[in-house]
Amino acid sequence: MVKKAYMIIDLDLCIDCNNCFLACKDEFVDNQWLPTSLAQPRHGQRWMNIMRKERGQFPLISVAYLPTPCMHCENADCMVAAENDAIYRRDDGIVIIDPVKAKGQKAIVDSCPYGVIWWNEEEQIPQKCTFCAHLLDDGWEAPRCVQACATGALVFKSVEEKEMEKIVADENLKVLNTDYNPDPHVYYKNLQRYTHCFIGGSLAVKKNGITDCLAGATITLYKGGEEVGVEISDAYGDFKADHLKPNSGSYLLEIKHPDHESKTQEVDLNTSINLGTIWI
Ligand code: SF4
Ligand code: SF4
Repeated sequence: MVKKAYMIIDLDLCIDCNNCFLACKDEFVDNQWLPTSLAQPRHGQRWMNIMRKERGQFPLISVAYLPTPCMHCENADCMVAAENDAIYRRDDGIVIIDPVKAKGQKAIVDSCPYGVIWWNEEEQIPQKCTFCAHLLDDGWEAPRCVQACATGALVFKSVEEKEMEKIVADENLKVLNTDYNPDPHVYYKNLQRYTHCFIGGSLAVKKNGITDCLAGATITLYKGGEEVGVEISDAYGDFKADHLKPNSGSYLLEIKHPDHESKTQEVDLNTSINLGTIWI
């Protein structure tokens, strides 16, 4: 069986250092690797694009980073849009834009549901991530971006399809949603960090005229009478119940601490929300 190329991206480990983006630039700017790519322009293209999303409100804010290369889809819209077989899939699943055949085909850029194809005005060609196919063909074990990632957020796999299916099930990997399933070769761990939202806040107490953070309180989250999560407030009294679906309606928070009276609060969840200071 043929081994296929896959990438796994863990959002919990991405710190937006942009090493992957720079490694990609280092590999492709001023370098052409025919037949798989012409040189990438110095400016204006991000073959490894780090998308950013800010969640919550000051001071409880979390920023999620979503590294987004070409997904090397099995059902690739770009291949359908390309004329003259200008885009093809290799046996290892890597989708390649032929820089010679694709010349002048600007319509290819808009065909990608993930928006990862860029237009090279000077060369008049569409361009994108190749999973560093030229290096893999030379015996490298991973693309440059994966090698450059110091946190281990990017992992490259060259495995048979069946083995990848098992990894996806065992590690609960997800793909980036589109209106349909293009069956991408890029999988995400902890994708909820980007797609979902949280309810957070800070617990505080006043005792004998002294204001203090309330650490160690148990915050239980209920939805429709069912318990859906439990959080413990940290040393600063902060808590965050994460991975909740956006626009998922009404929740009830029950806050308990052995030294204080319990308190409940209702929350209507649209997007990530910082409830601010909750006095106990
Ligand atoms: S190198 Fe790794 S940690 Fe840094 S931005 Fe890229 S994926 Fe994230
Ligand atoms: S992510 Fe876009 S460019 Fe990459 S294979 Fe899929 S449709 Fe084509």
